[in-house]
Amino acid sequence: MVVKPRVRSFICLTSHPTGCAQNVQQQINYVKKQGPIKDGPKRVLVVGSSTGYGLSSRIAAAFGCGADTIGVFFEKPSEKGRTASAGWYNACAFDKAAKEAGLVAKSLNGDAFSDEMKQQTIEAIRESVGQVDQVIYSLASPRRVDPETGQTWKAVLKPIGDSFENKNLDTDKKVVSTVSIDPASDDDIENTVKVMGGEDWERWMNALTDANVLAQGVQTIAYSYIGPEVTWPIYTNGTIGRAKADLDRAVRSINAKLSDLNGRALVSVNKALVTQASSAIPVVPLYISILFKTMKAAGNHEGCIEQMDRLYRDRLCNGNDIPTDEDGRIRLDDWEMLPDIQQKVAGTWVRINTENLDELADFKGYQEEFLRLFGFGIEGVDYDADVEVEVDIHG
Ligand code: NAD
Repeated sequence: MVVKPRVRSFICLTSHPTGCAQNVQQQINYVKKQGPIKDGPKRVLVVGSSTGYGLSSRIAAAFGCGADTIGVFFEKPSEKGRTASAGWYNACAFDKAAKEAGLVAKSLNGDAFSDEMKQQTIEAIRESVGQVDQVIYSLASPRRVDPETGQTWKAVLKPIGDSFENKNLDTDKKVVSTVSIDPASDDDIENTVKVMGGEDWERWMNALTDANVLAQGVQTIAYSYIGPEVTWPIYTNGTIGRAKADLDRAVRSINAKLSDLNGRALVSVNKALVTQASSAIPVVPLYISILFKTMKAAGNHEGCIEQMDRLYRDRLCNGNDIPTDEDGRIRLDDWEMLPDIQQKVAGTWVRINTENLDELADFKGYQEEFLRLFGFGIEGVDYDADVEVEVDIHG
């Protein structure tokens, strides 16, 4: 069938199998071009491995470090003539490329928050690689079913304390307007921390430790974001920020659990990028459009794969201690947060409106990146050609 994009606000209902595969291949090519990464992990579990930061982590681990990988994700295969989700096609493409390169690639599709999926993953580790040296935790989800109580928790993106009003970009209509969001209730905060905080990361690490599938010196890394003051009310000081702060609590508890293995848990603060998760956050798409313009002009713009390649090459496997900030976090948002970049972004922020959007921000780049997430707008792909939308993962 011929597949065209069908965008509805911050989601695209279709995805292109060839485009997604090409996207994965381009990321693989990028990592290979940088050369092998010395002394990297050889057996890596990535929870949330089908899109965004998790996919790029898996690619950097496999094609940079030469690691066998196990990937866990929640994606939809093609059904009744509809395309599969983009993450499904990404996972298929990764699986194929890794196996062609002689690497183990096990892919598990299902709810990572459930105990069943943790158990299936443990079995898959035992059967394929025995133990893992590294666990990347890169889930982004709007809800979580608590495996102990069966209760469904729902994450919300709200400020805490006062209501929040600021500029916002309607990415469908290409209009800069004002958004006003009421403050979260205590219940909203608890819900968001339950979904996006550290509890499930801890549950994963406890289950993996108890099953003896973690190797000596194991590392585990979860991803976070801080960003500039303009997004603090909705991000860092809001419900999602509260959940991210809970990751720091989880680091301490996981480190205690891993002490017999000489293991280590870390949070990596990454750059704001266009992913399925970030496009749903108010204010952030406008900030990203301005940031991209500023960082491209400064020559230090990066996408997910450049960030994750740098995570492995310069931070985790640099032959020395892992550099961290005073709170013990890895900072891959260092270039985003450079004073010069942030001053320029802040200056643009006050001036930006619908009329000068194209001049002051890289909205075109934002839209292109968004479509690329679903396999559209990729060089060399014939979007008028018939494609097979049913693609399998062999696991
Ligand atoms: P994403 O939406 O691209 O990826 C989310 C992944 O989680 C996918 O692989 C998806 O299949 C998986 N997933 C979601 N629910 C699941 C479930 N129930 N079971 C199994 N898998 C499930 O998101 P992303 O932007 O790459 O975010 C990953 C992490 O990086 C998050 O912690 C996010 O806060 C963090 N981060 C993102 C940004 C950004 O700008 N995008 C910046 C810094 C940090």
